[in-house]
Amino acid sequence: MLIIGSHVGFNKDKQLLGSLEEALSYNANTFMFYTGAPQNTKRVEINDDLTKKAILKMKENNIDINNIIVHAPYIINLANNKEDDKYDFSIRFLIEEIKRCESLKIKYLVLHPGSHVGLGVDIGIKNIIFALNKVLENNNSVTILLETMAGKGTEIGSNFLELKKIIDGINKKELIGVCMDTCHMNDSGLDLSNFNNILDLFDKEIGLSYLKCIHINDSKNIIASRKDRHENIGYGTIGFSNLINIIYNERIINIPHILETPYVGEYAPYKEEIEMIRKKEFKNFKNV
Ligand code: FE
Ligand code: FE
Ligand code: ZN
Repeated sequence: MLIIGSHVGFNKDKQLLGSLEEALSYNANTFMFYTGAPQNTKRVEINDDLTKKAILKMKENNIDINNIIVHAPYIINLANNKEDDKYDFSIRFLIEEIKRCESLKIKYLVLHPGSHVGLGVDIGIKNIIFALNKVLENNNSVTILLETMAGKGTEIGSNFLELKKIIDGINKKELIGVCMDTCHMNDSGLDLSNFNNILDLFDKEIGLSYLKCIHINDSKNIIASRKDRHENIGYGTIGFSNLINIIYNERIINIPHILETPYVGEYAPYKEEIEMIRKKEFKNFKNV
């Protein structure tokens, strides 16, 4: 069965229950959320009562909580230790984020590896490894998934070998994995029109068993643009049929597929996009 959903909101009043209800309204069977705003680190106390209600409702709707993903805020940067206090803050925030995932019973936390901001890739990777080992020290249940990045600015993780170097330095390898992002891979220079080649490369350089999630996005930009601007399914340079081939590739059919495509004006298009994916048929819902 295809595991497909989108990113959804998480608000302080309904928390996980609200996120689940939003996902159900899109006919999704998984979802991803930030535990607060993606661009800041203000977070609310997790309400166990709402979590219990959400878990019950997941069971009623045949949603496996092991397929639900949390995304860490993108201002967290583990690669940059130029300022001690900011680096320490990122580490402490992630330790708290893992505790939030634990109380929410969520198994996977997606993280952008970080940007080296001029320190160079090697030092950036060293900083990420040090930070992640600290973060994972007192954690035994939440797996951190490093995301494949577009290579914008000084982003680390825009090729598989950089992710492999990070993984090699992690002490608790059972708690580290990778989340692919189709827009990012396209923008980093990978040709997604033959996805089996990409999976072969990933398997050779990292190992397919580390792949736990994939973000499904079209891209506004051409291959190797290093831009990272997501587009709705079928409206970008990757295109509908390539994305369908990726989504239904047998080798990764069991992992969660998460849409992070943009809103159309004020409108969340995920119900339409999920329907198109399930039917394998493009429908012009934007009227462009
Ligand atoms: Fe991301
Ligand atoms: Fe992503
Ligand atoms: Zn992106």
